[in-house]
Amino acid sequence: MLIDADRLHIAIQKNGRLSDTSRELLKDAGLRLQNGRNALTARVDNFPADIMFVRDDDIPTFVADGVCEFGIVGGNVLEEFRLASAEPAVEVVAPLGTARCSLKLAAPESFDWQGPQSLAGQRIATSYPRITERWLADQGIAATVVKMNGAVELAPRLRIAPFICDLVSTGATLEANGLRAVADVFDSEAVLIRTTREIGVTRSALGEALLSRIQGVLTTKDAKYILLNARSESLPAITRILPGAEAPTIIPLHGRPGHFAVHAVCQESVFWETLEQLKAAGASAILVLPIEKMML
Ligand code: ATP
Ligand code: MG
Repeated sequence: MLIDADRLHIAIQKNGRLSDTSRELLKDAGLRLQNGRNALTARVDNFPADIMFVRDDDIPTFVADGVCEFGIVGGNVLEEFRLASAEPAVEVVAPLGTARCSLKLAAPESFDWQGPQSLAGQRIATSYPRITERWLADQGIAATVVKMNGAVELAPRLRIAPFICDLVSTGATLEANGLRAVADVFDSEAVLIRTTREIGVTRSALGEALLSRIQGVLTTKDAKYILLNARSESLPAITRILPGAEAPTIIPLHGRPGHFAVHAVCQESVFWETLEQLKAAGASAILVLPIEKMML
């Protein structure tokens, strides 16, 4: 595909842990993808953009080279890329809150772990050698890092290295391989990245439009619209309880002096406990509505 100067190019993972949430985010931002699952690219038919489906490891390179203006990738892959390049021409424009995981150092279950100094002179297998090396340097420990491209948890059994530094979300894989996490090396989540290269006015404007939609999607994810009634003396307590609401609208109720309707956009989750607290503070007729779209 030739790079069109008047279309955006967005790199997302073809198959893997980031694929579904990446597609969903683009869909929620109103982008309708034309091709099916197995295509390498998809044209968006209602926004000037093309989607490229690639290995997650290639996403930072594509964005830094300007082949794609945007990409969605794990913070861990981005960090490893940044540490490897002299001038990584990428910036994070939005943390996405998905694909959360941590890069952890793990030792054999039976190992007598005394802290990072236990690693001195040892071998550590990992797919993230640069992040691991930086962490070791921060700890002031000299150890040998062995790069593996996958199945890192097998390294101790294969006698490649007794220690590993690998991504963990639940810890089940470690446990199944007789390992236990002993230190947190890097916390990660999926991030939306943008090229810092010059992309011209048309694509810059398209990029701003896309970003504004995505930020809208991210802020509405937990946001709710709350409506309630209250007497004037309850208003200060009620506005304090409303989660993440700035400047609620307060409207007098017709024919009921001293009574008001409060309308507010709450940016944080609204739980049953919140409603109970609002009721206890004097609110009545409380309605919580989902917000479909929001542009700030
Ligand atoms: P690709 O074929 O695209 O190279 P991959 O096998 O390298 O895929 P996945 O396993 O799909 O990558 O993981 C993609 C990203 O999902 C990781 O880089 C990480 O940011 C995130 N992630 C979340 N939880 C985990 C986990 N438990 N293990 C590994 N990655 C996780
Ligand atoms: Mg990969």
